[in-house]
Amino acid sequence: MLRDSLEGELVLPSDPGYDLARQLQNTEYDTAAPRGIAYCRSAEDVLACVRHARDTGSRVHVRGGGHSFNGWSTGEGLVVDLSRMNHATAEDGTVRLGAGIQSLDALDRLKPLGRQIITGTFPTVGQGGFLTGGGLGWQTRRFGVASDRLRSARVVLADGRVVRASAEEHPDLFWALRGGGGGTFGIVTELELLPVEAPRLTSFETLWAYEDAADVLSAWQAWAAAGSDDLGTSLVVLPGMFGPGGRPVVKTWGVHLGAPAALERALGELTERTGTKPMHQETGVPAAYADVMHEALCGSKTVRQCHRTGTHPEAVGHRHPYTRQAYRLTGSPVTRREAQTLLDAWDPELDAERYLLCIALGGAANRVPRTETAYVHRDAQFLMGYQIATRDQEAAARGPAELQEWADRCDAALAPLATGSYINFPSSRVGPGWEADYFGENVPRLREVKRHYDPDDFFRHAQSIRPEPRRTTETGR
Ligand SMILES: Cc1cc2nc3c(=O)[nH]c(=O)nc-3n(C[C@H](O)[C@H](O)[C@H](O)COP(=O)(O)OP(=O)(O)OC[C@H]3O[C@@H](n4cnc5c(N)ncnc54)[C@H](O)[C@@H]3O)c2cc1C
Repeated sequence: MLRDSLEGELVLPSDPGYDLARQLQNTEYDTAAPRGIAYCRSAEDVLACVRHARDTGSRVHVRGGGHSFNGWSTGEGLVVDLSRMNHATAEDGTVRLGAGIQSLDALDRLKPLGRQIITGTFPTVGQGGFLTGGGLGWQTRRFGVASDRLRSARVVLADGRVVRASAEEHPDLFWALRGGGGGTFGIVTELELLPVEAPRLTSFETLWAYEDAADVLSAWQAWAAAGSDDLGTSLVVLPGMFGPGGRPVVKTWGVHLGAPAALERALGELTERTGTKPMHQETGVPAAYADVMHEALCGSKTVRQCHRTGTHPEAVGHRHPYTRQAYRLTGSPVTRREAQTLLDAWDPELDAERYLLCIALGGAANRVPRTETAYVHRDAQFLMGYQIATRDQEAAARGPAELQEWADRCDAALAPLATGSYINFPSSRVGPGWEADYFGENVPRLREVKRHYDPDDFFRHAQSIRPEPRRTTETGR
């Protein structure tokens, strides 16, 4: 019995907690029916799950924070859940994290230890999934892709070995784990990272009328690309249901690592480049890194409250409804005309919950050679994409074609600007060239690593690297 060999907990379909245990961040996957969910406590637990799955011929689905857009961390097999492997310690200039730790917990636990790490811009994303796909956020421009700071990882392999991957030990695996995508090469149980030196941060936010959206989008991109590496920033176009007076609105926000005067100057430049003033502009006071990031990710919620609803009695963090999305990486700021085309695809008149989101990249991330790690996108300046969602459960159940059609139209608008795609922000629909799109010239080496460490393709999901090239007709969904 697997249950008897686990220090952690096994939840089976007949158990009362099953419906909660099978949830991911997105409600779309609530109907997935894994044969069990193993809440592992240790690498030994993970190993027991791998052995059990091998012995019984079951699939495994590796799950950290459960944020996979396309549901790659669930399915009909055994879910190996790492969320309870969430320790955070600091020693000898590095930090060690349980691979299932979520961003907000890592920030919180490292704060009294005087350490800061790179996170994304959403609180409950798991570090294991985040780092194995690359890891992008507001610290990317100053400190690089998060996985560039990985020093070693403990990994449970398909053949039952538990290895440490680093520059010295299993260097090919170590290379692949930095951007080659989660759920592909093994199950990472612990991560050793070089922290960032960022004791203090200042947050900011600006809001702009939708009428100025094309000017704001093009000016914000030019501003961010030319700006100091101290600047971490996102832009989102929000629909009328979230805007003042029921009108769509453009928000830019983020954090700055430099002096408050430098941030004020930078925001002045943004206004100047846009040619009009924001409806609203706000800057915070410089404060401890973990506090500013917590507020940006969780608002006024406590650490406990900020977790996903259902995962803790106090947790009230929202879940995402049925969503279709199209995301790409782009290599230079958009012109005003290109911005207008992107906004036309977003369609201001449509009555639906949808976003156009951009995160500014570049800086230190782009000063690393493309083949240095599996994360190849060293020319990307922006992650850009669209999401559309429905909260109507009946509509969601029929898999509304109109949402995918909208995402397809948006993808077509993005395509001429794209330099590649980020495996952690996969589009709902991908074309046959998706491997090259995610990994560029690193595909052959990734395949070699896969052949070496997992020749039977034991760890797999719809868009994981396979040991052999896929047939061109396979789209990976
Ligand atoms: C709302 C939202 C906001 C996001 N914001 C950002 C952002 O700012 N920056 C950014 O870079 N990304 C962001 N992401 C993307 C996020 O980084 C990826 O979805 C990431 O893979 C999620 O990891 P997870 O552990 O939470 O998800 P899961 O669904 O649990 O896992 C995602 C993938 O990683 C694999 N995996 C997870 N843990 C491990 C492990 N320990 N070992 C091996 N494989 C593992 C899974 O099998 C799966 O294939 C965001 C996603 C969402 C939904």
